[in-house]
Amino acid sequence: MSLKPLLPGALSDRGQQMTLGVMGGGQLGRMFVQAAQAMGYFTAVLDPDPASPAGLVAHWHIDTAYDDEQGLAQLMQRCDAITTEFENVPAPALITLGAHRPVAPSANCVAVAQDRIQEKAHFVKTASEGGPLSVYPAPYAAIETPELLAAVPADLLPGILKTARLGYDGKGQIRVKDRAELAAAWDKLGKVPCVLEKLMPLQSECSVIVARGADGQVVAFPVQKNTHHDGILAFTEVYDGAVPADLAARAQASTVAIANHLNYVGVLCVEYFVVDNGQGGSDLIVNEMAPRPHNSGHYTQNACDMSQFEAQVRALAGLPLPTPRQHSPAIMVNLLGDLWFNPNGVRSAASEQPVAPPWAQVLALSGTHLHLYGKLSARPGRKMGHLNITGASVAAVRATAAKVLALLGLPALD
Ligand code: ADP
Ligand code: MG
Repeated sequence: MSLKPLLPGALSDRGQQMTLGVMGGGQLGRMFVQAAQAMGYFTAVLDPDPASPAGLVAHWHIDTAYDDEQGLAQLMQRCDAITTEFENVPAPALITLGAHRPVAPSANCVAVAQDRIQEKAHFVKTASEGGPLSVYPAPYAAIETPELLAAVPADLLPGILKTARLGYDGKGQIRVKDRAELAAAWDKLGKVPCVLEKLMPLQSECSVIVARGADGQVVAFPVQKNTHHDGILAFTEVYDGAVPADLAARAQASTVAIANHLNYVGVLCVEYFVVDNGQGGSDLIVNEMAPRPHNSGHYTQNACDMSQFEAQVRALAGLPLPTPRQHSPAIMVNLLGDLWFNPNGVRSAASEQPVAPPWAQVLALSGTHLHLYGKLSARPGRKMGHLNITGASVAAVRATAAKVLALLGLPALD
């Protein structure tokens, strides 16, 4: 990538308004577009869905398939640099774009993040080149052939079998207790390449977001504590004490090392497990990474002096990346489509008309920041938006969150 910054509001080398593009039109693309526009950039989105959340707000929406040559050519014509908002964008499309425009993250980095086998190998390599505080993944084995299946070491059981590709929100994974269940699970997953991971004694889960520029400058956001319900992120808590300080520092250092070793450019999120170390204490395990902003980083929009989306814009455009500062304790609550079928806390059938949740009551609480993604229909399990809650103290933000969760009929914080 060129190190010359693409200055917002300037005319580009193309003789056009400086324009940033994104592959993918989901909510992450929408918030990237909004951050870029706030800074004065023009924006373009490539996504086949004519009503995609990002396409609806960008200056230009190219609604072709991700690998459509004409669509990619249009995106390059419009844009001075291009990023991605989801990891499953076809690598050849990023290679095509990267031959003509700065693309961050690179096709190679996205390819590593797309494949759990490559991803874990990268984690092991990074950790083995670090010091005693390096963070390793859970013990695992790649399963790509019947021979590899038969050779799985017994101490990986009980474990979780995960497809190497295309898994998300807990999909594409099966828990297995013994070899018979493992064989049946691999069968059920279609005998595609998988990893078997040892089932770890989780105490909690956390994640770290870093932003790295083409000049190698890298900054880390605070460590986020994540709570999942039914495999989907339910809420994220970010304040002193949410994650033990020594583990938080290790997680940040590990994430920076993972980004540096990939020569990564852009925003990267790495997920970690806090596990029982068997000696009455805790240890850290690295789980997976996302080559883009992450749901667990949405709190940065209202609780930090730079959001993860602004960091993505800055990294892509070659602008400076000062260390972000969190100015308020924060809790992010995910808003799934189920909430639209839960009027007054009474669950209605998914076939009934959706009813908007009680936003006026929620927004009457100070420190509540509503972000809806402009999706045209609510469906159970669909990510419709999120609510960031900020407060002057940990006690204050937790108290507001408790009221919000009660108003929405959601399970309480731990
Ligand atoms: P996804 O791509 O669906 O987010 P993950 O690998 O993050 O897949 O797994 C989803 C969730 O399953 C994790 O957030 C964690 O709660 C649980 N999980 C995954 N791997 C393990 C493991 N090795 N031991 C215990 N729990 C796990
Ligand atoms: Mg995950």
